[in-house]
Amino acid sequence: MAGPARRARVVLFPLPFQGHISPMLQLAGALHARGLAVTVLHTFFNAPDPKRHLGFSFVAVPDAIPNAVAATNNGIAKILALNAAMETSGLVRDALASLLKSGEEEEEPRLACLVIDSTLTATQKAATSLGLPTLVLHTGSAACFRLFRSYDMLHDKGYLPETESNLHLPVKELPPLKVRDLFDPSKLPNKEIGQKILNLATETTTNSSGAILNTFEALEARELEMIQDELADRIPAFAVGPLHKLTSVDGAQTSLLNQDRSCIEWLDTQAPGSVLYVSFGSVVHVTQDEFMEVAWGLAYSGRPFLWVVRRGLVLGVEKPELPEGFESMVEGKGKVIEWAAQQEVLAHSAVGGFWTHNGWNSTLESICEGVPMLSSPLFGDQLATGRYVQDMWKIGILLEGVLERVKIEKAVRTLLDENEGMEIRDRARDLRNKVQMCLDSSGSSRQAVDKLSYPNRILLLD
Ligand code: UDP
Repeated sequence: MAGPARRARVVLFPLPFQGHISPMLQLAGALHARGLAVTVLHTFFNAPDPKRHLGFSFVAVPDAIPNAVAATNNGIAKILALNAAMETSGLVRDALASLLKSGEEEEEPRLACLVIDSTLTATQKAATSLGLPTLVLHTGSAACFRLFRSYDMLHDKGYLPETESNLHLPVKELPPLKVRDLFDPSKLPNKEIGQKILNLATETTTNSSGAILNTFEALEARELEMIQDELADRIPAFAVGPLHKLTSVDGAQTSLLNQDRSCIEWLDTQAPGSVLYVSFGSVVHVTQDEFMEVAWGLAYSGRPFLWVVRRGLVLGVEKPELPEGFESMVEGKGKVIEWAAQQEVLAHSAVGGFWTHNGWNSTLESICEGVPMLSSPLFGDQLATGRYVQDMWKIGILLEGVLERVKIEKAVRTLLDENEGMEIRDRARDLRNKVQMCLDSSGSSRQAVDKLSYPNRILLLD
């Protein structure tokens, strides 16, 4: 029996990096909760753990990233190599063909679509060649979605390539961004690669049946409206974020590294709103000098802190070493761990601020818990998000320029307990309430999920 009443299956293919795997698995959880069968296609590289998601099925697709590329810190090169390898091998197409075939069996859910990460053009080409529709998950903000589609305009209007003299120039077409927030691909060692990576999301979106964004109306109403105008209603956009609040899939299930839970017990011993949580996510690196400035800035701030120093955080160093004298100076006040249960940390009442690199997941997780931010964006979309945090939403302080201990020390104090930071803290709390509203049954994100999926099927594609 074919037809709309029959249960549908969605296949999802995340880009194998933490910041992309988590929202894809969260989306999988949200769709599964609505009755859809879920299959996750994944690479061997950074493979998710099937044992943590008993309701989903998993199919591994061998990836053939050359060893030299797999070993580099260059995420952009890895994405391009992955696409090239998948296109050459045809293994994604084979996996999809086999899922389509089993979906023809009457007792099996029929395959409705492939949901892909916006950078995975190869997976989309495989689906298209089999007549299978694709939906594209954008794991960044709506503002960055627009920014990444605007590079031709930014060059035409002379904002790019950036120069020493135009760094502080406002980009009037994309307020509140300044030229320094744009992520200039021509600054990368290989310009063409930089340009290519920006084009991937535009290509996959244009060739898709719909765009799914991990953001919400109350946060980015203007950007979302412009996106829908730009996509000219041909490609519907669904703002279903914050995805981690719309699903029962939690941080421990999606984390590639083991989360150290001792930090929760430590937070239990700290005063409400007193602790600065510090983490720069799963991929960015800092230099040894920057690492020292962060350490001493935290120590001299005199405020309690929980600092994630993950392996590889310092460029070229597997296990970063804290400076001499640091541990004795911060004893009883600071805790350093390799990887946190971040969502729980941010929800803990002892946490009063988050010093972040503004990866989009970290930013959303902070917003959801009403935690104000100290922003140190380092790369890519983080730069624009840091600007939005300070100048648009006004829920944080952007640390611009070189990281220096004195600057850090002052910013930490302002954020956590000085009068100057009070309005920022209040606004962060107000925004948390708006998140709650978008998650209610009549809220915008719930409604977007309703428009996307009906119990048992993808509404859009029926
Ligand atoms: N994260 C975590 N423990 C940590 C640091 C980060 O579980 O100690 C999680 C965090 O909750 C977030 C993800 O890792 O969901 C990082 O994603 P984000 O987009 O913020 O940054 P990226 O790692 O992609 O730069």
